[in-house]
Amino acid sequence: MPTIAITPCRQMSDYLESIKRAGASVLDVSVDDDPATVVARMDGLVLTGGGDIAPALYGAVPHATYAAAEAGRDAFEIALVRAATEAGKPIFAICRGLQVLNVALGGDLVQDIPTEVNGALNHDLREPRFAIAHEVWASKGSRLSALMLEKLEDAENCPVNSRHHQAVHHLGEGLEVVATAPDGVIEAVERAGPFCLGVQWHPENFWRTGEFRPLFEGFVDACRG
Ligand code: MN
Repeated sequence: MPTIAITPCRQMSDYLESIKRAGASVLDVSVDDDPATVVARMDGLVLTGGGDIAPALYGAVPHATYAAAEAGRDAFEIALVRAATEAGKPIFAICRGLQVLNVALGGDLVQDIPTEVNGALNHDLREPRFAIAHEVWASKGSRLSALMLEKLEDAENCPVNSRHHQAVHHLGEGLEVVATAPDGVIEAVERAGPFCLGVQWHPENFWRTGEFRPLFEGFVDACRG
């Protein structure tokens, strides 16, 4: 059974359920751990949701809405992405995790969708956590689309939840956009080679009903290496 490192956040339970139900065990990690040691012990990495990445890490001045994540997360998670990429280990990045993935690979972010994206949809629908906020259009031929075909007749058009005010802007090295919302906001990226998928929504909130189980199963399968 593969062992997955899930980065600590305030809402761990749905990530834990989703990963365990996909057939993996979970490595207990803390932001004080040595990233290289964590990567050596894990078969795959899940980057979780949370607050904003310090804009200085991608060369920007903080927007008025900047709300920092828990102390230590930025540096720990960026180091994990770089070490996991170096080691060729699978990465599944969710919400803030997608943004961390992008920044760790040299990309930057839209700091506040409502004030920076013309005609933006509501991307911040908080309750219930599995409420559908908007759809995403996934690229044909992407890993995302191929995995979702098991669940959706039309994997290109996929309803998702949404709790974010930031988004990927310029892409990090090797990343490719594989889904956007109808307002143009980037909702998913992938990287060629070992499994590397980032999604801007929260698939882990659907473990009871299974809409996004193929994403967790595809990731865990890749971790069996
Ligand atoms: Mn969204």
